[in-house]
Amino acid sequence: MTGRLQDKVALVTGAGSGIGRAAALAFAEEGAKVVAADVVTEGIEETVRMIKEAGGEAISIKADVSQSQQVEAMIKAAVDTFGRLDCAFNNAGVEVETGVPAYQHSEDGWDKTIAVNLKGVWLCMKFEIEQMLKQGGGAIVNTASIAGLTGRGGIAYVASKHGVVGMTKVTALENATLGIRVNAVCPAAIDTPMVRHAMSMGPEIKEYIENMHPVGRIGQPEEVAQAVVWLCSDAASFTTGHAFPVDGGMMAL
Ligand code: NAD
Repeated sequence: MTGRLQDKVALVTGAGSGIGRAAALAFAEEGAKVVAADVVTEGIEETVRMIKEAGGEAISIKADVSQSQQVEAMIKAAVDTFGRLDCAFNNAGVEVETGVPAYQHSEDGWDKTIAVNLKGVWLCMKFEIEQMLKQGGGAIVNTASIAGLTGRGGIAYVASKHGVVGMTKVTALENATLGIRVNAVCPAAIDTPMVRHAMSMGPEIKEYIENMHPVGRIGQPEEVAQAVVWLCSDAASFTTGHAFPVDGGMMAL
């Protein structure tokens, strides 16, 4: 049996941990050749090891998505290795100051958040779209958040994720007739190091976070990964410019 992304080439940023690693594994399970990118080397080497152990094909590339030259080199390395780029999951992100009101948020925290979460996604799309136009098409998914649809979160994080949703719409419209679809996923709280840190602060905080979701629990990275794989597959051929909540019902509240 062939997978939904058989022989496609899929790039994942932030692939060394959490949602990115789960997506890299899910792409490989669906038959894609995976380019696992991250600013930290150890995590992506482990992701590649896991994919190869399961019989898949993958390479790791160290790249900081906020640095234009590194992003350009990342796309070049992906294409040099596998010949093309069919799917891109722009997922690398940081949340540097949580629970801090806007008037106390640091300027450094603002700059770091915007550099990685907003500029990083734009830079990735810039070089991905250039390549996808050359080869006649592709599918891009960006990681936003429910913080891209609501005011839940710190000022810089919410601004960056609203920006990701906006950039997703711009690039979807620009490329709508050019064979490139662009969508975003908007996860609520997902069981990754980013959220585990907050949950470990006490049982009442854990319960509060779980109860924010109508389903009564937080999500698993694999549940976001499945939405990403679907959005990248031909099954989603009429879906573009969409900000897709993966949120246990939170946006229905
Ligand atoms: P994570 O911390 O487990 O993984 C993030 C990965 O991104 C790490 O491996 C990190 O090294 C990498 N990274 C950070 N800065 C980078 C940079 N400049 N260049 C390249 N890689 C970089 O976090 P996660 O929870 O898996 O988050 C993944 C994405 O999902 C982020 O964009 C985050 O904002 C978003 N998100 C997470 C949640 C959640 O609850 N976990 C909810 C909504 C959205």
